[in-house]
Amino acid sequence: MTVLVINSGSSSLKYQLVNPETGDAIASGLVERIGENSSLLKHSYGAQEVNLEAPVHDHSEALAKVLELFDQVGPALSEAGIVAVGHRVVQGGSYFSSAAIIDDRVRDLIEELAPLAPLHNPAHLKGIDVARELIKVPNVAVFDTAFFQGLPAAAATYALDKEVAAKYSIRRYGAHGTSHQFVSAAVADFLGTEELKQVVLHLGNGASASAVVNGKAVDTSMGLTPLEGLVMGTRTGDIDPAAVFHLSRVGGMSTDEIDTLFNKQSGLKGLTGDNDMRAVRSRATEGDADARLALDVVVHRLVKYVGSYTAVMGGLDTLTFTAGIGENDAELRAEVCERLAFMGVKLDADANAVRSMETRVISTEDSAVKVLVVPTNEELAIARQAMSLL
Ligand code: ADP
Repeated sequence: MTVLVINSGSSSLKYQLVNPETGDAIASGLVERIGENSSLLKHSYGAQEVNLEAPVHDHSEALAKVLELFDQVGPALSEAGIVAVGHRVVQGGSYFSSAAIIDDRVRDLIEELAPLAPLHNPAHLKGIDVARELIKVPNVAVFDTAFFQGLPAAAATYALDKEVAAKYSIRRYGAHGTSHQFVSAAVADFLGTEELKQVVLHLGNGASASAVVNGKAVDTSMGLTPLEGLVMGTRTGDIDPAAVFHLSRVGGMSTDEIDTLFNKQSGLKGLTGDNDMRAVRSRATEGDADARLALDVVVHRLVKYVGSYTAVMGGLDTLTFTAGIGENDAELRAEVCERLAFMGVKLDADANAVRSMETRVISTEDSAVKVLVVPTNEELAIARQAMSLL
């Protein structure tokens, strides 16, 4: 039994064939530059990898080509055992607090939510529509916002005129929920108890923090959109909204220009010119002042969030790092944990230095807070949620 997990973007289609029981990724691939003259296709199955360049006009042709690749390179569709297709969907609004089997009504609700995620939901729908047409198994939508639908009202509500907020559906939805749910559950599993006050730091290109008490999210750093919160690869994270008024009135910038500035030209990229943490880290090590300041801003923001979430939860049992930076950047983990020494956080330097794909504790035995590294696996989380719905 396998689940085909699809992440459909406006001009791309990424997929992974997952065995939800063993957690194995059996095959994976992507189609990029859909709609351009020359699209790129990549499909991997075991040791075999195929890279092709060919025109792919739309998502329907992209998925048809992917299905051909399964038959040509493997595993053949007749033997792949696909029982469901799981779709990553960024915005589930207030409609979805868990995954949903996609029927016409669910499809239309995802479309209705497009104004809240204009870059994502319409792109997901392209993948959903063609998969429903071409693969005759249940299609399931797994929402990035679902884990945070149950946030306490105090955490989800902006102090905005309540009629305006209601009219335009403005509240904190969060994002990366599939990862925060998967990782916080993995911590509970690993430690053998769900009764934990957890902070999870998902630090990838996008970055977010969550506070989780006994398996339920009680706060998260992303808000109406993924722009709010931590410093990210290209996003500002928290910024005074009055910066928008200022850039508009004094800088003469349009709404779209400011949107691009905040979402695509800020964060690490805005501060250093590089959005990749490895490049920023190595420049800082060589003494580059911009890179060092960027890391200081990143760490300062992380420490602030961990501290505030500890206060919100009335304590902290576990602090978990995940995603590209969280799983790999031992120096960043050390910098954050050093600043939390006042809370009794003690890092085990040797354990922190170990590189591994396994869930592991990197704090000392006598640390007041257990610090962990947990590899996230959003595809597996989507596959498991899809299976549990069937
Ligand atoms: P995405 O949000 O695109 O899924 P990832 O979770 O793959 O992102 O994380 C990408 C980030 O992880 C990049 O900033 C990259 O530089 C960083 N990263 C990967 N490996 C390392 C490493 N060894 N040290 C520091 N940062 C790393």
